[in-house]
Amino acid sequence: MKNLSILGSTGSIGTSALDIVRMYPEHFKISALTAARNMDLLARQIGEFNPELVAVLDKEKAFELSKILTGNNKPEIVFGESGFIEAASYKQSSTVLLAMVGAAGLKPALAAIEAKKQIALANKETLVMAGEIVMAKAKENQISILPVDSEHSAIFQCLQGNQQKDLKKIFLTASGGPFREKSFKSFKDITLKDALNHPTWNMGNKITIDSATMMNKGLEIIEAVHLFNVSHEKIEVLIHPQSIVHSMVGYKDGSVMAQMGQPDMKAAISYALSEPDRLDLKMEFPSFTDINSLSFEKPDTKKFPSLLFAFEACRQKGTMPAVMNAANEVSVELFLNKHIEFLDIFKLISKAMKDHTCIDNPDLSSIIKADLWARDKVRSQV
Ligand code: MG
Repeated sequence: MKNLSILGSTGSIGTSALDIVRMYPEHFKISALTAARNMDLLARQIGEFNPELVAVLDKEKAFELSKILTGNNKPEIVFGESGFIEAASYKQSSTVLLAMVGAAGLKPALAAIEAKKQIALANKETLVMAGEIVMAKAKENQISILPVDSEHSAIFQCLQGNQQKDLKKIFLTASGGPFREKSFKSFKDITLKDALNHPTWNMGNKITIDSATMMNKGLEIIEAVHLFNVSHEKIEVLIHPQSIVHSMVGYKDGSVMAQMGQPDMKAAISYALSEPDRLDLKMEFPSFTDINSLSFEKPDTKKFPSLLFAFEACRQKGTMPAVMNAANEVSVELFLNKHIEFLDIFKLISKAMKDHTCIDNPDLSSIIKADLWARDKVRSQV
């Protein structure tokens, strides 16, 4: 029986994780849940899974939640950053699923590592912002960080039974998002509705936009560099519209290992929670005879400069990845609120990265400072 803290339980990863817990009550118990804003759903989750602790965004949300909850089985309710940190390091939990969105995931992630929890990591920003610090802390505390992202779960599985010294290449696959076939000329007309309409994966708003700009893949490049301790020069992004091959690893003898499956996040989530065991998810295999062909193509970086930004951030290291991430986060938020156009997202990220003076080997406070600088920078342009 594993006791879990799920940070971000009302989001797309969080609810899928709870679907798995519902299927396997003999394997998992929920000790703590956190959600920023969706108190109605959180209240239903509390009723079903009986956590001892819940954390929410702020005092108002805590009040709202305590009003919804009735009966005498109420969990302890905490809030704010300190509340999320409390849930991440909650003493009853052995494993923490970090599924909250954005830079807000970083401090809870570090707290969970310091409390020696096993980490199932869905929050990419943690590694993008502070990969060196996070991985060093994980090593120091002898805990493993298991990827929940489908691509990184695939790479992790393709590495098993092999040796790091033989790894030659990581093929990071990407669906290409909704605008793969759209001409660059028509990118200026992309609306919010177009961008929120993803062809193969069903995800939250932020990551869906990241998918449309391919910044999601950019963040995943940086995530892979840290998780698997490889140079960005060994990573190649391949567009694979069917989303059946979730990524591949090439070895020096020319062998390539691929991990395949349906595009359903449950597989990656459950493996991060149950590895080395595999849970029976009652999932169909891809229907290979119906699929007919699996295709791969090179990404168009003129249309999707996010990939170039990410490789540049990898080259410069230091505070640059955090700046790229923060500039993206604010730009996506501005786009979701219809304050800027789709193409402005690229312009704003590029400008923030150009204007940033990169600091080498930054400590956590320099990273957070760079993150805040980039946020202000982007907002001041709009
Ligand atoms: Mg992914």
